[in-house]
Amino acid sequence: MAELDLNDVTKVYDDAQGTETAVDSLDLTASDGEFVVLVGPSGCGKSTTLRMLAGLETVSDGTIEIAGKEVQHLAPSERAVAMVFQSYALYSQMTARENMGYGLKHADGLSKRERHAKVEDIAELLDIAQLLNDTPDEMSGGQKQRVALGRAIVREPDVFLLDEPLSNLDAKLRARMRTELQRIQEDLGVTTVYVTHDQTEAMTMADRIAVMDDGVLQQVAPPEKAYDHPVNEFVATFLGSPSMNVLDATVDVAGDDARFRRDGTTFAAMPADAAPVRDGETVRLGVRPEDMRLVADEPSFEATVSVAEYQGNDNFVHLSAGDSDLTARVPPDVYPNPNDVVDVSVAPEDVYLFDSTTGESLKTRGLQPTADRQRGAVSTD
Ligand code: ADP
Ligand code: MG
Repeated sequence: MAELDLNDVTKVYDDAQGTETAVDSLDLTASDGEFVVLVGPSGCGKSTTLRMLAGLETVSDGTIEIAGKEVQHLAPSERAVAMVFQSYALYSQMTARENMGYGLKHADGLSKRERHAKVEDIAELLDIAQLLNDTPDEMSGGQKQRVALGRAIVREPDVFLLDEPLSNLDAKLRARMRTELQRIQEDLGVTTVYVTHDQTEAMTMADRIAVMDDGVLQQVAPPEKAYDHPVNEFVATFLGSPSMNVLDATVDVAGDDARFRRDGTTFAAMPADAAPVRDGETVRLGVRPEDMRLVADEPSFEATVSVAEYQGNDNFVHLSAGDSDLTARVPPDVYPNPNDVVDVSVAPEDVYLFDSTTGESLKTRGLQPTADRQRGAVSTD
């Protein structure tokens, strides 16, 4: 068990294609026993970060501390970390027992019998005791995944590093392994950095998520905090499915009211002091699909249904209003027909606003006067 601390960690790849900054001045900590999920689109620098933590990739700049000790100069075997890869990376000619015990072979002072006992304990924990004499080609994807996990756990690392470990499993097994991995991590209490591009995985598993874009860390926060109070439009739209509706709107301040208009439609309104906006300026207006209600509250606007997608537990209704396309997520009994004209209302507290130039959040979920706040100083701590 240990605390993990990345300080200004940068990775620049320098090859025939030129130089590329894959990870840019990353500051990130994980407290003892914490489950941190590094999430972001493909190519944003997640694997590079994990590989630097494991020692499989050099660090161009910055420091990595595990339990208060700098490790960036140490070889992988000298760091108390264990990594699980998407590809499992099992030895195909070895049995599950040999694969899991392999990393223990050079462990100090362990007899063969003690090694076996350890492997058997962990196999029990992962429910693969019956597979110990099988080789990988006799196993399903899910079983291989468990063996790969077991090989990491058996080494009792200070830090677990998992790179998209569930991507090769089918949807049902993935959901099950999500829950199980969480249970195991909690039981063992090992500090964990888990990488995924899948925001659902990130939201359901993490104590805190760290959202990256293009090598740059955007926000670190508990999932619900990042969802309700994203620091910018990137985080807001990356989290949530279907993703947040965002459109350019013009601010129209009249008395105590601010209205957000586009192409003849007023999409939302709120007290003028709820957001640091100026009359006549253009902002990015964001509304999550589940916050678009198909009722004629005040304020509301009319929209035309293009298609309603039946989902079972709820429906996705695709709408157009003026030149904007929007998606609403509604209860299963709300099922309008194509070309129906419906009333849509959005409560002021559910409106998100972003700066149209920087993408920074101006207003997130909730409704507090912003009189004391400076523009661009939305606190999400
Ligand atoms: P992710 O895991 O988030 O999909 P990666 O960390 O694998 O992203 O890659 C981040 C960026 O670094 C990408 O643009 C990728 O092309 C680049 N990259 C990764 N590995 C190398 C490498 N060995 N040489 C050059 N560029 C690389
Ligand atoms: Mg990757």
